[in-house]
Amino acid sequence: MLPRLAVVDPELTYDLPPRISASTGLDALTQLIEPYVSSRANPMIDALCLEGIRRASHGLARAYKDGSDTEARLDMSLASLFGGLALANAGLGAVHGFAAAIGGAFDAPHGAVCAALLPSVMRMNIRALRARAPQSAALARYEEIARVITKSADASAEEGADAVGQLCAELQIPPLSAYGAGPEHIDALVEAASRASSMKANPIALTPEELREVLAGAL
Ligand SMILES: [Zn+2]
Repeated sequence: MLPRLAVVDPELTYDLPPRISASTGLDALTQLIEPYVSSRANPMIDALCLEGIRRASHGLARAYKDGSDTEARLDMSLASLFGGLALANAGLGAVHGFAAAIGGAFDAPHGAVCAALLPSVMRMNIRALRARAPQSAALARYEEIARVITKSADASAEEGADAVGQLCAELQIPPLSAYGAGPEHIDALVEAASRASSMKANPIALTPEELREVLAGAL
């Protein structure tokens, strides 16, 4: 489904309550991080992703704390637009693979599901890349994300994942157990997530055991 016309107007977001600013904003951030490290990443989309990640990491906590912060709302509206363009052209990854499976099984907002999974998926992807594909361009991309988010020139890929985890904590993102997901659902959700189209664009193929660990870390 593609819109004929999309109106992206930050003013329409000024009275979004903090909880929805948090979940939709972290979905926007996920939709920039996943295409940037995707196996289908491409140079045109890279530029949009980096600018979007910079704006989201600048504006998200501010928009959450003060909905009338017009600069932060503009940053988040642009981050959301860039993420939409990015995912349509470069695909997504394991966060959205899981979100497709979980969204179909539990009454949980899409953005909150993505936010609960994002730090866990970033850590696992980085670990798997270091172990099985240390020369992968995706690892350098995770380092670039870390530098943009932490504003530190020597930040490691892992520090970027930690910074995203801290942002999720600051925005009071609940774990997936808040929507009724428990250890008893792990096998079925991993099975469904492995078949999701987004999973195919993940920068490295994660094993079923790794996917189980990711999900357990988000419960
Ligand atoms: Zn999404």
